[in-house]
Amino acid sequence: MIPPFDLKRQYTALKPELDSAIAGVLERGTFILGEEVAAFEREFAAYCGVTQAVGVGSGTEALHLALCACNIGPGDEVITVAHTAVATAAAIEIAGARPIFVDIDPQRWTMNPAQLEAAITPRTRAIIPVHLYGCPAELAPILDVARQHQLRVIEDCAQAHGALYHGRRVGSWGDLAAFSFYPTKNLGAYGDGGAVVTNDSEIAERLRLLRQYGWAERYVSTLKGFNSRLDEVQAAILRVKLRHLDASNARRRSLARVYGTLLRDTGLQLPLDPEDGEHVYHLYVVRTAQREALRTFLRENDIGTLIHYPIPIHLQPAYTGADHRQLPETETAAAQVLSLPLYPELHEDEVRAVCDAIRAFPQRA
Ligand SMILES: *Cc1c(COP(=O)(O)O)cnc(C)c1O
Repeated sequence: MIPPFDLKRQYTALKPELDSAIAGVLERGTFILGEEVAAFEREFAAYCGVTQAVGVGSGTEALHLALCACNIGPGDEVITVAHTAVATAAAIEIAGARPIFVDIDPQRWTMNPAQLEAAITPRTRAIIPVHLYGCPAELAPILDVARQHQLRVIEDCAQAHGALYHGRRVGSWGDLAAFSFYPTKNLGAYGDGGAVVTNDSEIAERLRLLRQYGWAERYVSTLKGFNSRLDEVQAAILRVKLRHLDASNARRRSLARVYGTLLRDTGLQLPLDPEDGEHVYHLYVVRTAQREALRTFLRENDIGTLIHYPIPIHLQPAYTGADHRQLPETETAAAQVLSLPLYPELHEDEVRAVCDAIRAFPQRA
C-alpha cells in the first residue's frame, strides 16, 4: 500500500533529534511561551526573510489574529478564493468579517488577479491570496491592486513554507502572512501550531498581545485578546524540522519532476511549475474529468489518493448563505483535482509505481 502521506517515516528519520528536543523541554519544565518559542520565532522570521514571527495556536488562528491585528472585523469584507481549505474562510468569519470569493486561474489554480477589481467595494479591507498546494500565487498583480485601493494583503502560506516568488520567500511579500504547522504541512508540528510573520513591528506587538488575553504584562490586558499560543514542545519540534525544511522541499520538488516526466502524455492536467517562482509541492495535484474512476482504480492497485478539495467553500452546506459571483474555474477544479502521494520520505520507486498504475488506467474519452 502506498499511502497518500506517512508521518511515521519522517519521525523515524529524525527520531534522535526530535526525541532529544522534546526531552529538553520536559526537563526544563517551561511549556508556554518560553525560550523554544522565542528561538523558533527568530529562526522562522529569518528563514522567511522578515523581521518578525509570532507563534500562535494554529494556521486558522494565524489568519484570524492577522485580521484582528489589522483591525478588520464586523462590517468589513475580505477577498479570497473558494478553492482552498475551509479554514481560510472560517478565519475571516471568526474575525467577524465577510469572505468574498473570486475565481482561480485555470492553469495555476490560485487567485486570478484579473478578478479582483470587480470584487472590491467600499467595505473591502484586505485580500488573502492562498499559495495552494505549495504553488506561489501571482503576488505582483495582487499587490498592485491592493496598493491602488489601500487594502492589506495577508498571504495564506499554510501550504507553502519555503516557496519562492521572484526569488523571495512567500510570506515576505504581503503586509502579513499566516502559516500553519499542522502535522502534514511542509513544516509540521506534532499537534496544532501556527505563526504570523510580518516586517511591521507594531503589528507584531499587537499580535503578541492578542495571542495571550491582550496582556501587555501579566494580568494587565490592554487589548481584548484571545488564548492562541504556540507551545514549547511544538516549537522545539519545529526548530528541528526547520533545519531540514530546504532539503525536504528539494526532495518534494525532485519527486514532482519524476511525476511530471512520467505522466507527461497521460492526458492528465499536471500542476504548473511556475517560471516566476518555486513550487514546494505540499501536494502533487493532477486534474482529470475521470477523477472518481481513476481514484477507484488506484485504490484497487493499493495506492491511496486524497481530494483537496471536493467542495468549494461557497458550495459547503455551512456557507450556502454567502453571496458570491460565478466561480466556474473553481467549480471545475473541485470536480477534477486528485492528490497523488507526495512527501519527502516517499521512495522514487513508489512514485514510479503510481505512474505505472496511472498509465495502465483504461482511459475513457
Ligand atoms: C491547513 C490550512 C489552514 C489552516 O491551518 P490549521 O493549522 O489547520 O488551522 C489554512 N489555510 C490553508 C490553505 C491550509 O491548508
